[in-house]
Amino acid sequence: MPSAPAEHKRRLFFALWPDAALRRQMAALSRERCKRPVPAANLHLTLRFLGMQDTAMLPCFCEAAGQVRAHPFTLTLDRYGGWLRKRIQWLGPSSPPAELGELAGALNQALEACGIEAETRPFVPHVTLSRKAKKPFEGPLSPALVWPVDSFVLAESVPSSDGVRYVVLERWTL
Ligand code: ATP
Ligand code: MG
Repeated sequence: MPSAPAEHKRRLFFALWPDAALRRQMAALSRERCKRPVPAANLHLTLRFLGMQDTAMLPCFCEAAGQVRAHPFTLTLDRYGGWLRKRIQWLGPSSPPAELGELAGALNQALEACGIEAETRPFVPHVTLSRKAKKPFEGPLSPALVWPVDSFVLAESVPSSDGVRYVVLERWTL
């Protein structure tokens, strides 16, 4: 099948999407601790990055996501992490619950039906607080942020004049 023209492609990813209250808490931390905080509306935790995909694939991605059977869980974001080379400052769980790995695994497996190859790199759950961080740091966050997770979303990454913004296309309940 010939690949679709560029205007029929979208940059997609599956993610956990914080609600407004949690988003405010995350944004406060990132403003406090980072010089270049990610806009509050952009805060999320990526489950699986799909990259540029033909829009014709969207029904398959939605069908795959709908087949995922996973349990709700509580995610405790209790530490700051930093990736020096990527210059990313993030927030994450020091001990991710098994259900999170199971959700990401089930999603990966379901997406194989759409021709998306299983992710081989280890899954490091994180919420990016800042990009282009000059001095990413690591350390505990106390009190931790408690995130009751009962759904996940398919989001689109849309380039905009002041960076990138994300649009939630669809949501599935766990
Ligand atoms: P920008 O790339 O413009 O700096 P961004 O990284 O926030 O902005 P995207 O690159 O569209 O936006 O990424 C969307 C989400 O997917 C982000 O959480 C990003 O960290 C993640 N992501 C992007 N590229 C990859 C990749 N190659 N592998 C895994 N996750 C990725
Ligand atoms: Mg990126």
